[in-house]
Amino acid sequence: MVRLRARLARSQNALGRGLLDLLSRDRLDDDVWDEIEEVLITADVGVSPTRSMVEDLRTQVKVLGSRTPEEVRALLRKELLTQINPDMDRTLHTTPHGERPAVVLVVGVNGTGKTTTTGKLARALIGDGKKVVLGAADTFRAAAADQLQTWGERVGADVVRGPEGGDPASVAFDATARGIEEKADVVIVDTAGRLHTKTGLMDELGKVKRVIEKKATVDEVLLVLDATTGQNGMRQAQVFAEVVDVTGIALTKLDGTAKGGIVISVQRELGVPVKLVGLGEGPDDLAPFDPEVFVDALLG
Ligand code: GDP
Repeated sequence: MVRLRARLARSQNALGRGLLDLLSRDRLDDDVWDEIEEVLITADVGVSPTRSMVEDLRTQVKVLGSRTPEEVRALLRKELLTQINPDMDRTLHTTPHGERPAVVLVVGVNGTGKTTTTGKLARALIGDGKKVVLGAADTFRAAAADQLQTWGERVGADVVRGPEGGDPASVAFDATARGIEEKADVVIVDTAGRLHTKTGLMDELGKVKRVIEKKATVDEVLLVLDATTGQNGMRQAQVFAEVVDVTGIALTKLDGTAKGGIVISVQRELGVPVKLVGLGEGPDDLAPFDPEVFVDALLG
């Protein structure tokens, strides 16, 4: 996995730098606070977390009076960390249960990076010495299964796929069975991200989960969210969170955006921790999400 800090620093995240500059001004009048609010909103922090941050920062700046650059940095660091909530449990559950592999279900809208994240996660787990089986349960697009197959070959994981247009649940079932047969540690199931109707999605994902649970336990439901799609992407992600019990978020394409504030809003909106971040298209461009490292990268 890549180093989160180095990669984010390269993406020149506007959030931390912009805020540091503004908070370091001698006079913090209403115009400056408006600008601070704008930076937060532009970085996708979300309206309500932005309000609470601005309020907190205003109070604390008043207490401080004159500010050294170090004090401003420390203040902002603490505030960002509070908003990101460093105490959320971000453990990715991939420990097998005796003879049965752990199962990770990957869900989210098409194009967010589900297949890529599945491949990268497999790579990381295999790097840790685990045996991984992949399930291509997006049977609606032949290209999706082909793409996963390529990832499987690339990282050294078996890929179970079904006929095009076949039942996604049956692929999930077969992948779980293959995982048990081959004594794999982890089975990762890549699902379809069609946002047809909410009940359609609920039925589909519900069935996928139920059939896996005939043979094993679903330990993680990872919701993949594209950081570059902002609040719009978040509304779509919310639909997934409403139909299936999401246990963690994989936030992709953080390398290509200055909108790191989405970490704050997505956790606040969905009540689920960001566990992984995608930082590029390569096999090693995935990192566990570490709030402290993230905030330090933002502040440069
Ligand atoms: P899916 O439809 O949800 O399975 O999405 P894909 O895995 O096919 O990804 C869609 C596109 O986003 C592909 O071109 C990926 O290479 C790209 N992608 C996925 N994750 C990342 C990431 O973390 N950073 C960047 N820059 N691109 C990514």
